[in-house]
Amino acid sequence: MSIETNYLHLKENLSSHVTLAAVSKTHGLDKIQQIYDLGQRIFAENKVQELLEKQPQLPKDIEWHLIGHLQSNKVKQIASFIHTIQSVDSEKLLRLISQEAQKNEREINVLLQVKIASEESKFGLEINEAKILFQKYQAGEFPHVKLQGLMGMATLTDEREIIAKEFATLKALFDEFSSQTELSTLSMGMTSDYQIAIDEGSNLVRIGSLIFGNRQYPL
Ligand SMILES: *Cc1c(COP(=O)(O)O)cnc(C)c1O
Repeated sequence: MSIETNYLHLKENLSSHVTLAAVSKTHGLDKIQQIYDLGQRIFAENKVQELLEKQPQLPKDIEWHLIGHLQSNKVKQIASFIHTIQSVDSEKLLRLISQEAQKNEREINVLLQVKIASEESKFGLEINEAKILFQKYQAGEFPHVKLQGLMGMATLTDEREIIAKEFATLKALFDEFSSQTELSTLSMGMTSDYQIAIDEGSNLVRIGSLIFGNRQYPL
């Protein structure tokens, strides 16, 4: 199936309250342009270097989301244009994003990435760290970022129950924060688990392979 068919089929099957971030990492400009031409505007990358190569060559009204771990020293490279940083996983990083946003005289949207998977390797804040950071945000410590919500990745497993439980944990935290301030975005779900994520309350899915096909990493 073609990328266009994949994309249109996916869009048809997403209900209107669920936003799609097309994960374009490893895929070329031509493929991104193909689904841009079908109306897609939110694209997500996980590496700063790749984002910096692609962004200048593509339409300026793309909303770029960063979904991979962001090193502090790279914040300033993306601060002028990044729409949303979904992968905020430390207080230090959030502070820097706020500072760089101020230097660029703009506000940067952020999501706190929370560790919900049992796997050791995943980046993200522990639930308690997320709560502390949220309270500091509420107290006005990061004035140039706009906290839009939370992001999480579930364990890579075939067991639906495990995935659903992890997503439900993040939804509960989202609801807790939402009772104190207005949050728009709960980013959960990728190709393998987005339907479970939506069932558990996700309203932003990050999907790559289902649209673009399998990724081929350089050797
Ligand atoms: C790569 C990636 C995705 C998309 O994965 P697919 O399985 O290709 O849909 C989603 N979220 C994050 C954080 C990723 O790094």
